[in-house]
Amino acid sequence: MMSQQAIRPFWKNFIGGRWVEGARGRRIALEDPATAEPLAEIARAEVEDADRAVQAARHAFDADVLRAIKPERRAAMLFRIADALEALAEQIGQAECLDNGKRISDARAQAGESARYFRYYGGIADKLEGRSIPLGEAYVDYTMHEPYGVSAQVVPWNYPLQLAVRSVSCALAAGNTVVVKSPVLCPLSVCLLGEACQRAEVPDGAVNILCGSGAEVGTALVAHPGVDHVVFTGSVPTGRAILRLAAERVIPSVMELGGKSAGVVYPDADLDAVADDVITGAFSNAGQLCSILARLIVHRRIFKDLSARLVERIAKLSVGPGIEDHDVTPLISAAQRDKVEAFCRRAEAAGADRVVGGRPAPDLPGHFFLPSVYADVSPEMEIAKEEIFGPVLCLLRFETPEEAVALANGTDYGLVAGVYTRDLNLAHWTARQLVAGQVFVNQWFAGGVETPFGGTRRSGFGREKGQEAMLNYVQTKNVAIRLTDRQIRR
Ligand code: NAD
Repeated sequence: MMSQQAIRPFWKNFIGGRWVEGARGRRIALEDPATAEPLAEIARAEVEDADRAVQAARHAFDADVLRAIKPERRAAMLFRIADALEALAEQIGQAECLDNGKRISDARAQAGESARYFRYYGGIADKLEGRSIPLGEAYVDYTMHEPYGVSAQVVPWNYPLQLAVRSVSCALAAGNTVVVKSPVLCPLSVCLLGEACQRAEVPDGAVNILCGSGAEVGTALVAHPGVDHVVFTGSVPTGRAILRLAAERVIPSVMELGGKSAGVVYPDADLDAVADDVITGAFSNAGQLCSILARLIVHRRIFKDLSARLVERIAKLSVGPGIEDHDVTPLISAAQRDKVEAFCRRAEAAGADRVVGGRPAPDLPGHFFLPSVYADVSPEMEIAKEEIFGPVLCLLRFETPEEAVALANGTDYGLVAGVYTRDLNLAHWTARQLVAGQVFVNQWFAGGVETPFGGTRRSGFGREKGQEAMLNYVQTKNVAIRLTDRQIRR
């Protein structure tokens, strides 16, 4: 069993470089999802705090603390944040394991993953080059990338630190200042990002972190007249609400929304390797991942064989607290567990065949749900169309590649997709046909900070990660110069 360190009992918001209470002195009680016991408290940010945070970010931006400095100095600052996050790895690991529930090895890895974002975008900060455009000898014309200003970033609960850092690192590299709205269920690792920024001597106000209700503080933040840019990662309904606010103010936004991603398994695939990979793809973080493998579309000839291999592997998965590094950890809350169970029961009522799981884990005090597989799922069933955000995998059968692609593309989402085959031509053909922002071949979650990520359809728009992400955080200015030298005649 892994050891559990004491978590600080009270945490604050980070505004203008200082740790502060909420404007009304209220607190949010946090729970350990593995035990359903109280864990700690955090100062509850209010609408007034959203205003203070935006003002701090506005002031820092207008004072040119990031925009006007040499890009190499911004890069050095990002590298210092990376170092500070790594130095805080143990605290980050404990915090995100205990307030989010994820396994301790994964929670500890969040510090390294997050540091990697700051190093990657630190490396880009001094390479944001423009173009020179030929207009004839009487002109000089060039483009430059400018930051938007204050970027408001609203973060969900499933990977709070990494999803915050994914946007903050890019925004800072380009010279923006940021206000982050962390998730109320598990904000602690994002607080530690504030600590890393302090240790890295990030200028006051360049990074601000608030924890408060989405409907109140999130709305106030996005609607604030001092905000120039919005990054939202979360559900489709909240994305729509935020888009309405952004539209009202005519500010750009990045929408990283949900998914119902499918993997297609062709009959020539290495079934043992596929089964191992599917377990990771479908049950990591108890299925609470936007890019989770939610639907496995399996060729009719290998359907029984692959199902049996999956059941065999699921039987070996341990279900238990993240702090003990179990394979399947709790869902974030009792409400999320009940929601997942309701999906399963409705699927059974609609005729889906429950192969394993489908119910909360018995005899455990927290919000655990058994890893679950449903077969004989038809594409029009709710369980095949809607995002569940739990450890539930649907199996569907196909006969021809065209049929597999039609099934995979048959939802309103388009975040990621996968293909399993040894045939490179078939893999490439399928990757082209799949409607998704990223396609994995023979390994779910292949890729990294370097590979662009984001959705099509209801999964959103804009890209995070990779060099493409930088384009979300800058606007292009063109400078067109008419030369007046007498030597120039045209
Ligand atoms: P959510 O939409 O309920 O909440 C996300 C954030 O928005 C939270 O911080 C919440 O407090 C805030 N919020 C809620 N209402 C708001 C409002 N009216 N105005 C402003 N902010 C508001 O999502 P969730 O349940 O926290 O996260 C799960 C969802 O996130 C899933 O759909 C998942 O697929 C998606 N997600 C997407 C990605 C991606 O990169 N595409 C990554 C992780 C999670």
